[in-house]
Amino acid sequence: MSITIPMVDLQIQYHALQEEIDAEVAQVLRNARFILGPNVSAFENEVADYLGVAHAVSCASGTDALHLALRAAGIGPGDEVITTPFTFIATAEAICYVGATPVFVDIDPYTFNIDVTRVEAALSKRTVAILPVHLFGQPADMRTLRALCDVHRLCLIEDCAQSFGARAEGDSFTGSIGEFGCFSFFPSKNLGCYGDGGLVTTTSEGAAARLRKLRNHGSSKQYVHDIIGYNSRLDEIQAAVLRVKLRHIDQFNAARHAAAQRYDALLKGLPLRLPYRDPRVTHVFHQYTLLCEARDLAMAALRDAGIGCAIYYPRPLHQQQVFAEMAARESLPVSEAVARECLSLPMYPELSDMQASRVAEVLAGAL
Ligand SMILES: *Cc1c(COP(=O)(O)O)cnc(C)c1O
Repeated sequence: MSITIPMVDLQIQYHALQEEIDAEVAQVLRNARFILGPNVSAFENEVADYLGVAHAVSCASGTDALHLALRAAGIGPGDEVITTPFTFIATAEAICYVGATPVFVDIDPYTFNIDVTRVEAALSKRTVAILPVHLFGQPADMRTLRALCDVHRLCLIEDCAQSFGARAEGDSFTGSIGEFGCFSFFPSKNLGCYGDGGLVTTTSEGAAARLRKLRNHGSSKQYVHDIIGYNSRLDEIQAAVLRVKLRHIDQFNAARHAAAQRYDALLKGLPLRLPYRDPRVTHVFHQYTLLCEARDLAMAALRDAGIGCAIYYPRPLHQQQVFAEMAARESLPVSEAVARECLSLPMYPELSDMQASRVAEVLAGAL
């Protein structure tokens, strides 16, 4: 018997929430207010309350959230921003959008997050910010990064695209520790809408006002423009969907955590390195990513069995063509080694015991 198990299944969750979501979306259509209306402002307030942050400003995507945060921070040409090479390209793209230069620091071999012990050596006179990613839903070492930023007067910008609802050491939510927290609501993220969406959190009222301007053509009053901005707004339909899902996010994240625990138990004893959990933080398992020396073999077996799997990420950013100049300068051996062996298994809140068992059975047969 073969069960088809996708990497991510967005249909089950929609079916479970269909009544609520359909009613809210229908209400938006009836009201015919589609841009910067009541759902957007309500959602921003609800997210700010949930995360315990002063301000939340929504925008059109997670990539835009990073871009707008960097602009609101005043980062630009000549500036260097320290970040991780083991992330989605958007993290570094946003740094380039403002004319700044990403400086890649190697990762911790256990968490796969930026290795905080290597950050200080990468600082230069031009460094203005550190941009950690809470990869796969596990918070980076924010206590150390916050202290480094305070000592060296740097701006701390968190890429929380994969970590909605995760808590760093000391129990603060990711996105509430840096000057800015940048979220994506891409459909497959832990809190996902039904299109593109993003949001920036900030502690500063001035920065929040700049963000609101930047996302709306540099304008806070209609037809009055004092800076060059963008068209980067979350729309009312997406905000309505997100308001429904936000009410369930703790339960979704708990279910991901339970699925990860099941994988851990089922895969124990196989020649794999299972995901490390930093005991100081709450991991929300955007991905369940392990290391596997025989990765090709494992992937072939999973595919033959109709089970999804993926490599996040096959090539670290310092080895991408677009950053070729940096590649010549630097070798980041931990990122390179992890990229060779990492493998992500199907992960979503509704992943059943039976599905997790089937994945484990196929891996056990292959390895
Ligand atoms: C998804 C993602 C982004 C970009 O978000 P979009 O909403 O797709 O623009 C940025 N950084 C990381 C780490 C991501 O996973």
